[in-house]
Order: sequence, then C-alpha cells, then structure tokens
Amino acid sequence: MHQSEPVVVIGSGPAGASAAWFLSRAGLRTLVLEAGPAGADLGFTARVRGITVAKRKPPLRARADVLATSDPTAVLFESLAPGGLSNHWACAVPRFSPDDFADAKRGGAPFAWPIGYSDLLPWYEQVEPLLHIAGSTQDAPNLPAGIMRRPTQLGSDWGLVAKLAAAGGRSVIPMPYAYGGDTTLTRSATAFNAFKRLLEPAQSAGRLGVQCASSVQRLEWSRAEKRVVAVICRTPHGESRIPCRAVVLAAGAVNSAQILLESRDVDWPRGIGNEHDLVGRYLHDHPLAKLVVRLGRGLSLSPATYLTRPDLKRSEPLYAAAFMQWGDVRTRAKSLLSIRPGKAKSLGFSIFGTMRPTPDDRVSLLAGAGHGERARLAYALAYPQEAVQVLRHARDELMAILEDAGLEPRVDVFRIEPPGTSVHYGGTCRMHATREHGVVDEKCRIFAARNVAVADSAVFTTGPEKNPVLTAMALAARAGASLAEDLRTGLA
Ligand SMILES: Cc1cc2nc3c(=O)[nH]c(=O)nc-3n(C[C@H](O)[C@H](O)[C@H](O)COP(=O)(O)OP(=O)(O)OC[C@H]3O[C@@H](n4cnc5c(N)ncnc54)[C@H](O)[C@@H]3O)c2cc1C
Repeated sequence: MHQSEPVVVIGSGPAGASAAWFLSRAGLRTLVLEAGPAGADLGFTARVRGITVAKRKPPLRARADVLATSDPTAVLFESLAPGGLSNHWACAVPRFSPDDFADAKRGGAPFAWPIGYSDLLPWYEQVEPLLHIAGSTQDAPNLPAGIMRRPTQLGSDWGLVAKLAAAGGRSVIPMPYAYGGDTTLTRSATAFNAFKRLLEPAQSAGRLGVQCASSVQRLEWSRAEKRVVAVICRTPHGESRIPCRAVVLAAGAVNSAQILLESRDVDWPRGIGNEHDLVGRYLHDHPLAKLVVRLGRGLSLSPATYLTRPDLKRSEPLYAAAFMQWGDVRTRAKSLLSIRPGKAKSLGFSIFGTMRPTPDDRVSLLAGAGHGERARLAYALAYPQEAVQVLRHARDELMAILEDAGLEPRVDVFRIEPPGTSVHYGGTCRMHATREHGVVDEKCRIFAARNVAVADSAVFTTGPEKNPVLTAMALAARAGASLAEDLRTGLA
C-alpha cells in the first residue's frame, strides 16, 4: 500500500461531504467520487432571513430500474447529482435523543445500537456549525437543543397547544433548520446543498479532490493483503481503476449497499461485508402521512412547529410518530396578504412514523445487467400495520389537543403515502456490536474489511422518527476521524 494513495469517499451528498471534510481536516489525501456530472444545473435558491423567496429546482425522479416486490406501490427516489438528495431536502436537522437509543435497546438485542447519544454528542457539536442552524436553544424531552446560529421561539399563540401536548408526553418546539435564518443566494435548489456548501469550497482551497461523472461499480479486494485496494468506476471515457488506501461508502443507503453487493470475490462470494447475508436487509423509511387541518382561528406559521414523539412510557418499542409542520412560499404569501399576516387557519403537517426494521425489507440485485451497467434492484419495503395505526393514532391525538385548545379543528386532508415517500432510507448496512446482527461496527467499519467504512444512513440500526441528515453527518464525521486515526496507527 502506498501512503500517497487517496482515501476515496463515494458520494457527495451530506454524508459523503461530512466524511470527506473530516478526513481532509485530519490531513489525509481525500478524493470524492461522484456519479453526477460536473457543472450540472442544480437550480437556485434565494432566501431572506431564512424565508425562501425564490427558487428553481430540477425534478426529483424515482428510480425506474427497480422491481417493487412486497408492496407494488413502493417508490425509491435518488438524485445522481452533486450534493445528492440535499438538492431536494427540506433542511430539517433535529438531533436524535438519548431516548431514541433507549427505545432501540428495549426493542431487543438485534435492535440495540453499539453507540449512544453521548458518543454522537461531540460530533453533533462539530457538524452543526457547518449547517448554520436556526432553532430552539432549550433542550426538550426527545429533542436536545443543538448549536444554533440563530435562536428561534414559537409564537405565544402556540402556548396552550404546547401545554396540552406536554400532558401527553410530547413537546412543541420550533423545528431546527439548516440555513434557517440566513440571507443567501445559492446556485442549488436548497439553501444547503452539501456539494455547494462544503465540498466545492474545500476543493477550491486545495484541501480535497472531487471527481464527478464517476459512477462507482464495485470495490476491488486483494486476497493477499486482505483489504480493498482499488475502486472501479464508470466514467464518460470508460471504466477506470482508482487505487486507494481506504474507502468510505456514502452513496446513500441503497447505493452504498448496492456497491457492496456488486463487490464479489472468492473471499466474498455474496459481496464485501456480506458473509451473514445482511447487506441490503433491514431497509427502513419513515412511514409518512400528510395531514392538513383547518382551524377556527389562525396560528403563527413561522418558525415552523415540530411536535416530538411521545415519551417512551406512552409508546410501544420501536413505534412512534412526530409532526413536522410545513409552510411553502404560497402559504406564507397567502398569510401575508390576509388580515392577520403571519398566521394561518390551515396548517399542514408531515407525520413521520417509525417501522420496526425486518430482514424482509430489503434491496437485492436482480440478474441480467449488461457489462458496465448498474444491476436492477429488487425492492421490498412495506409498512407494518402497527406503523399505520401509529400514524392514525397520532392524527387523532393532535386533533384532540387542538380541540381542547379551542381551535375548532377539522381534517381537510389525511393521506398515508406509499412506502419510500419520506426518502429517509436507512438500515442496509446496519451497525451492531456483533457480526451476527451487523455489517459494520461502532466505528462504521466493515467487520472483516477494516479499510472500508460505510458512512451514511445505511448504518442506522433503527430509524427513529427524526429526519436523518444531521445524525448521518455526525456519524460520517466520526467515521472519517476514526478511520484517519486508524490509518495513522496502522489499525486500518
Ligand atoms: C423532498 C425531500 C425532503 C427531505 N427533507 C429532509 C429534511 O428536511 N431533513 C433530513 O434530515 N432529510 C431530508 N430528506 C432526506 C435527505 O435528503 C437524505 O436523507 C440525504 O440526502 C441522504 O444523504 P446521503 O449523503 O446519505 O445520500 P444522498 O444525498 O443520496 O447522496 C448520495 C450521493 O452519492 C452519489 N452516488 C450514488 N451512487 C453512486 C455511485 N455508484 N458512485 C458514485 N457516486 C454515487 C449520488 O449521486 C449522490 O450525490 C429529504 C429528502 C427529500 C427527497
């Protein structure tokens, strides 16, 4: 192995950008390989004090090369472009809470994370400043406060709702948002595209390399050295072999698993890291319902409200739901033109629920891809009945709270979306203390391939109801720093 070879990071989404940022900060030569084309038109966003006033975004497309096998309505989205899905996300960045890890543990040994909140805390603290977050500076049960660039508070008209929700074990607080208080004009469809905000400046400063239009096909394993020695990718000029010192997979939970499944060798007949047939399994996404409620009197729209999950004693292990209020440009404009500007009588919520991960929810390769083509995927993702019940129960709970608050609520829309609609995929290379239940260890490192880390939400052992990006970035930062340390001391 040549120390001069780069550590290759696959993917320029939030997870890859975070891993690359911390690897290069540790002094390692870092090369990011990104499938999307350089110079892709990513749209633009204009924001004034955190409010989006204009934006153009390219369409988000579902993967067409998948066969939904358990629920035919299931959809799978991806964005093969610099920044990945962070060119489409809503920028909500809640931390996981200590209870999220406790809940996984009470679900039984296979669901226990090998790390807890205190292991992630220093990494949340390092990643959050990169995200310019606006949100509450007060810890709430089930949502620890982060490092806020701009502190926010809910309007006082939410006070009674918050008091009533607290009696049921839920907190009502402002949702933390990346770039949530910034005035900015950026050439991407969201205020924080990971490539635009982190990688492009680091590349311009000469701190790391980025090679776009490089779709990684597989990793090359050396039987003699017992490590991955190169990455094979497809470029516009044909197949290319890039020797590497180590690899960090951060291509999104589905694509990272797909790359491992494609990396077959005599030592790894089912793909690197897949000796226990776990790669691709335990896939999860947040069961999602859309709820629009009409009220007898208006409530403040901004900052957007988050109703946390209930406390553990009020929920079954691994089942919970939280509410994320949405407010698009149209809702805000309508409210500004109304007689009570800033308030709305119609409130929209995404209710994000959880699902107990199972080995049957999975992605796997379908035979028949031509040379150099990406294999088609079999895609099995179905919501368990318990998850659907939790979403309905959460809706009823919110309606009762709003009723008790004298807001005369009426449901305008309640719709349970098809599996995969949240686009919060995780679990396909799960983290665990044992090889029996995990693909990676607590450092995100593949058990028997020590120079390979998986650093995106693929490693989530369970999928707590919180939006995943902040935690994926904290894990990626931690994985990058520990890989750097182990390369320095010869442990990787
Ligand atoms: C509409 C919408 C709203 C969302 N809102 C939120 C939110 O508010 N908060 C939140 O936490 N999450 C949100 N999400 C989810 C969030 O966007 C994803 O969880 C997150 O982007 C995943 O990050 P990632 O880096 O793991 O993967 P991705 O963002 O998918 O990035 C993966 C990157 O890898 C590249 N890649 C893939 N395959 C290969 C390959 N073979 N070779 C080389 N490169 C490859 C891709 O081109 C891409 O750039 C939202 C998603 C959507 C669609």
